Amino acid sequence: MTEELYLADDTVTTFEATVDRALDDRVVLDRTHFYPAGGGQPHDTGALRVADGEGADGGDVGDGNDVAADGDADDRRWRVVDVQKKDAVYHTLEPVDPSADTVSSPEPGTTVVGEIDAARRRAHSRYHTAQHLLSALLLAEFDAKTTGNQLYDDHAHLDAAYDRFTDGDLARIETRLNELVGDERPVRSYAMDRGEAEATLDTDRTRIDLLPDSIAELRIVEIGAVGRAEVGDGGDADGDGDGGDSGAEPYDRTACAGTHVGNTADIGEIIVTGRETKGSDEERVRFALAEHVAGEE
Ligand SMILES: [Zn+2]
Repeated sequence: MTEELYLADDTVTTFEATVDRALDDRVVLDRTHFYPAGGGQPHDTGALRVADGEGADGGDVGDGNDVAADGDADDRRWRVVDVQKKDAVYHTLEPVDPSADTVSSPEPGTTVVGEIDAARRRAHSRYHTAQHLLSALLLAEFDAKTTGNQLYDDHAHLDAAYDRFTDGDLARIETRLNELVGDERPVRSYAMDRGEAEATLDTDRTRIDLLPDSIAELRIVEIGAVGRAEVGDGGDADGDGDGGDSGAEPYDRTACAGTHVGNTADIGEIIVTGRETKGSDEERVRFALAEHVAGEE
């Protein structure tokens, strides 16, 4: 197994770990912040290098034949080009030097530093959070359950159980999405026992039923209410009618193992770029961040 550090903190992009296993061009680490492909979110990419102070040949120095043991040498640094989770998280390595045709992976026991492509991760986190908003509003306002989703670093789509979205629907969806972004709603994640989640959360939203029975503890990603108070005082004292979101129910809670931004404002402007029929009673909605849509600023 690999300790999946990105579940507890999805903002870290540089970390240290120890090589557990090396299999040709793939390595398993004891812990990782690299996100493996899953849940509609692509894997991270980046680099792995031998940590400073690690000997090039297992620790001994001074036989005169070693190349300089500096961390920039090509045999001490690799590109991480794929990350997949199976029994553990596997990182596929490629040589930094594109002319090299084989990769010699770091030996088990080696301390390495992982460096995640932060821009690509950031884009995935923004799209993934936008997807949660879209799923929540389609359920709330169209009674349309999400049946699938796939995001990339410059566009995304979501499938929903719905007959047909009109142009007017799509315009309304885009407006609502950007209102939710503008609300600056906090986004946080926490672990919850599966039984408690099934008993207390709306299972249409959490999509718990889609998870394997073997998963006993869920990671809940929550998009908060507007102006949610950090600590409730138990009372309902504000009494001002519409502005009284303090202590209100969160906008959305979904079981999800992906990465997200910390506030809906971090997503930025969203454009609904189109729709298509995905089969009977299933619609695909395409969307992108405004900066990724040609002609949009
Ligand atoms: Zn998610």
